[in-house]
Amino acid sequence: MALEEIVSGVYGIGMGYVNAFFIVGEDGLTLVDSGLAKKKDTILGAVAGAGRQPPDLRHILITHHHIDHIGSLAALKEATGAKCYVHPADSPIVRGDEPQPGPNPGSLLGKLAGPLLSRMSPPAPPADVDVEVADGEELPLAGGIKAVHTPGHTLGHLSFLLPSKNVLFVGDAAANMLRLGLPIGMFTADREQAKESIGKLAALEFDVACFGHGRVLKGEANLRFRRLAEKLAR
Ligand SMILES: [Zn+2]
Ligand SMILES: [Zn+2]
Repeated sequence: MALEEIVSGVYGIGMGYVNAFFIVGEDGLTLVDSGLAKKKDTILGAVAGAGRQPPDLRHILITHHHIDHIGSLAALKEATGAKCYVHPADSPIVRGDEPQPGPNPGSLLGKLAGPLLSRMSPPAPPADVDVEVADGEELPLAGGIKAVHTPGHTLGHLSFLLPSKNVLFVGDAAANMLRLGLPIGMFTADREQAKESIGKLAALEFDVACFGHGRVLKGEANLRFRRLAEKLAR
């Protein structure tokens, strides 16, 4: 596990190929995503690394229902009493009321590997959703966070803008693995919608972009999104 202070009061937790983040605010800690299953101790270890205690974790924002983002949600909620925030289109899957949709059969890899992957990956432990969050909603957490509905990767995907720090938590609306781009097609429900969501993010003001997968972009990150949106529109 790698703990990194990205900007003052905003930390990244690197857990292999997936990242989570937390914000230290006057109202306690706000976590963005919860890693794979069995990562509760890793995440609480990161919280301790920032000089905080588990009960300081008050809010958990979920970008989308994939297992690498909600795997430890139920365990973290139980350990800390934190409330979680999810878009209504993804919440039935987080709650365990609906099964995880498998890889997109519209992508070649999804068609070939999808059935195998579905059998290999156990479902995430179900978790109660405390607050359903709609597009554009301003959450009174961590000094003010704006939820931005960025569907495509999943239908209820949310990105979160923290204007006080000029930080955007992208989730998997885009990835910054080898370069900035759309997330992997196999795990993306609707590629056209995902492209439109890049345009939506490109219109926002932010300086730093934090991704579920890949490196943080620092400095005029929104210009990089504008260039990507133009490229995708061609
Ligand atoms: Zn995902
Ligand atoms: Zn992911």
